[in-house]
This record gives sequence, structure tokens and C-alpha cells, in this order.
Amino acid sequence: MSVLDNIKEKIQNSNSILILTHENPDGDAIGSSLAMYNALKKMEKKCLVYIPQPDKTYSYLSGYDEMMTGPIMPINQDFDLVIALDSSDLNRLGNAVEIFNEVGETICVDHHITNQNFATINFVNAVASSTCENLMVIFAGLEVSINKEIAECLYTGILTDTGGFRYSCSPETMELVATLMETGINTNRIYRVVYDITTFNRTKLYGRCIDRLELLHDGKIAFTYMNLSDLQELNLEESDSDRVVYFGRDIDTVEVSIFAKEREDGVYKLSLRANEYVDVSVVASKFGGGGHARAAGCESSLPLEQVKQVIVEEIEKQLNNNNNNVSAE
Ligand code: 5GP
Ligand code: MN
Repeated sequence: MSVLDNIKEKIQNSNSILILTHENPDGDAIGSSLAMYNALKKMEKKCLVYIPQPDKTYSYLSGYDEMMTGPIMPINQDFDLVIALDSSDLNRLGNAVEIFNEVGETICVDHHITNQNFATINFVNAVASSTCENLMVIFAGLEVSINKEIAECLYTGILTDTGGFRYSCSPETMELVATLMETGINTNRIYRVVYDITTFNRTKLYGRCIDRLELLHDGKIAFTYMNLSDLQELNLEESDSDRVVYFGRDIDTVEVSIFAKEREDGVYKLSLRANEYVDVSVVASKFGGGGHARAAGCESSLPLEQVKQVIVEEIEKQLNNNNNNVSAE
């Protein structure tokens, strides 16, 4: 039986399905969760999405207001199937790990090359631009026709994980996007909400982080950080800082941009972005994280100065490796 048939059978035999995704969820995480939710509802399945801290940017998606949120899952309900989306390993589920472990049947749909196949059924296609792209294959298998609500969710995930159709876009991705556009979704509006509209306080946060930006290793590495007090003073959430890492990445001399975010529990979350040749997923993996070649992340409980030192050292190794490879040619 193919993985697709397995997924179909499991969903058909389930009465109550829980949908989970990774912490600090991005557009693909929320888009894929709500696409699955809307598709399952169309199949007349009882289902729920639990996202502890969703990003309000995506509140225009159908089903957003029906999600369960908060640090502890608010209701006690028996689920016979859990579907984890866009998560490469169990730890990525954050607060939802426990509930994932309590449910007997588990499915994972993902597109990360670092995926650990942690569910009983794993649909992982790392060639796909996004989890939403993988879901389109699954929905075709489930014979769910894609309506406008589902299309908005899927479009959002593909748009955001490709950085606005810049990376990992194959001709197939664009063909799938065309079928989503045919449902009549307002792509201009989605683009504006996701990439352009911001708030005054967010812009103030960008100002603080830009002010702290420094260049290292002949300008090839950019580093900046954010303290918890920044978020508290500006009344913002962690997701409000998602664009900060790009200020460093877009400087002409920079290959790798690092953004360190202080978390509630004294841990630093690191966002890494590369431009052309450094594989930042290798760097992130050394600290227990992962991701993609040009966009990855990890955590560290070291104090800020030390976090900076160890991560910069690892990136320097990658930069030097690359120099060696070039000179060996
Ligand atoms: P971001 O910097 O936006 O938080 O994450 C960029 C990418 O890196 C994400 O798409 C995700 O794939 C990956 N990533 C971020 N943090 C972690 C982490 O702690 N563990 C793993 N495995 N991947 C991460
Ligand atoms: Mn994704």
C-alpha cells in the first residue's frame, strides 16, 4: 500500500482528528494546518487544530478563529488520529509534544530534508517548496476538491515558504499555484497582508535590531539580537520579529545573517539565513536544530555573548570550507 493510500485509510477510519504544527508557526505551518482542517471538515470529519501561539498575520484564513490556542491544550478530548504538519522532529511541536504522544495513530506531512520520520505514517517530500505543496498531492489522493477557503490556506503556505516565489519554486509549484488562483482567491491582498502591512511598534522593533546589527568575518556574517524587554516594552510577540533576520541578509557583503531572540525561559532562539553558498542547516544541526540550506534555526541556553561566539565559529568553518573548495578547483 502506498503512503498516500495509508493516509487515506487512516483518515477514513478516524472519528476525531487533531492537527498540530511547529512552535513559532509561520505561514506554511498555519496555512497547512488550516488547509487540512478545512479539507477534513469538507469530508465531514470531526477535527481540531491546536496552535499554542498563532501569528495574527494569518487571521484572514478560514478556520483561524476556531483553532484552540494557549500554552496548555484547553479541552480534554479523545483523538484517534493526530496529523503533524511542517514539523521535522518531535521537539518542534513544543507544547504539543505530550498530546502527540498520547494519540495512537500519527501522520506527519513535511518537506524538511532534516525530517526524523517520527510518526507512524510519514509523507516527507523535501523537493516540495512547502508542506502546503505536499498537501495538494494528498488532497488529490483524498479526492477533496479545493475550494476558495482551502486555496487561500495553501497559497499562503506556498507564498511564505518560497519567500514570495523566490526559492524552491519548481515549474510544478507554479502549476499548482495556478490551480489555486483559478479558485478566485485575492492574491494581491494576501501578498500585502503577509509582506507589506506592518504596525508602528513592529517598525520600532526593527529600528532597535537594525541599530544593534554588526558585521563580522570581513562583512560576510551579520549578527543582531532582541531581548525579551524589547517585546515587553513594545507590547509585541515573538512572531512580530520574523522579518528582522532579513535586514542582515540583504546587506551586499553578507553571506550569513544571524538573529538571536531571547525566549521567556532564558533560552536564545537563533534564526539563520544564507544567501548563496553556506548550508545553514548544517550549522543549525550542530546545535540540535535544523531546517533548509538557506534558512534554518536552533536554540541555545548559553548567555548572549557566548551564543554569538559559538555560532559565529561554526559559520566561519562553513565559510572557510567553501573558500577551500573554491581554491581547490
Ligand atoms: P526561523 O528562522 O524562521 O525560525 O526558521 C527557519 C527555518 O528553520 C524553519 O523553516 C524551520 O524549518 C527551521 N527551524 C527553525 N528552528 C528550528 C529548530 O529549532 N529545529 C529544527 N529542526 N528546525 C528549525
Ligand atoms: Mn514549511
